[in-house]
Amino acid sequence: MRTNKNKKPKVLWFQAVTCNGNTHSFLSANDNRMKLFLDSFDLIYHPSLSVGISLKEIIKSKIEIDFLLVEGAITSNERFFSISGETTSLLLNQLVSKSKYLIAVGSCASYGGLHAKFEQNEDIKGIQDSLDVDNLYSLKHPTINLTGCPVHPEWIFQTLFTLKDYKKMALDDEGRPKELYYGLAHHGCTRNEYFEWKVESKTFGVKEGCLFYDQGCRGPMTHSNCNKILWNDVNSKTRVGMPCIGCTELDFPRDNMFETKKNIGIPDQVPIGINKRAYLSLTGIAKTFKIDRLHKKLID
Ligand code: SF4
Repeated sequence: MRTNKNKKPKVLWFQAVTCNGNTHSFLSANDNRMKLFLDSFDLIYHPSLSVGISLKEIIKSKIEIDFLLVEGAITSNERFFSISGETTSLLLNQLVSKSKYLIAVGSCASYGGLHAKFEQNEDIKGIQDSLDVDNLYSLKHPTINLTGCPVHPEWIFQTLFTLKDYKKMALDDEGRPKELYYGLAHHGCTRNEYFEWKVESKTFGVKEGCLFYDQGCRGPMTHSNCNKILWNDVNSKTRVGMPCIGCTELDFPRDNMFETKKNIGIPDQVPIGINKRAYLSLTGIAKTFKIDRLHKKLID
């Protein structure tokens, strides 16, 4: 059956102040999912993929954008001029005035991310804080923040397909889709049994032990489904022995990310929703058990 390309919702990917990490992540999507996306949407512009048309031509044209995806932080500082010689703030607002839905792809677009943290004098923000007054109320839906450094390609696809079919998504207090960010990176981690019995890993890159107490793992405080929707369909940070660095939370990037801050041996932060006293009691009890199996190498 022939499809009418013009009927497909139009998607435009705008890059602002960015390292391209979300583009790399997007391009590593599962082949079948990418094909489904390209069959269902009309990707009218992506700076790394498009030829023959420029962003300026689209802005000047009558083209209407259904879904505006933004990668990178926004600034009106001329030090960060785009290729066309305009600020990312101006370009963002010109694009938003032609768009129905606005989606931040990544932590930098959501709230400024590491650019906002490390270039504090440069007026760098996320997209919502960069909208002109006229654009604040012109969109069909509140701005959606897909936090993450980078964002999983599947989070982008699920957001686009949900909005295409249902027109709206429930968002949490940070503007993130609840269905993607309701759980924690801790959920589905293959090391949960080690966490439960307080058997800690002393180093990165091994299969055994939990990475919470000694390696700075933020899985129990980080809203993401990294251990449920796996990366490249096979893996996650914690599965390969690398602590979760909490990249979907607004305090990312934190200082000393591979360290669990403690006070007289007690972690400053305990898993979300658990009272510190209860956590300490449970930890004390768990440590009285010594389960031999959990202290052995999984593979000799
Ligand atoms: S490694 Fe991190 S995510 Fe996995 S069980 Fe330990 S604390 Fe939770």
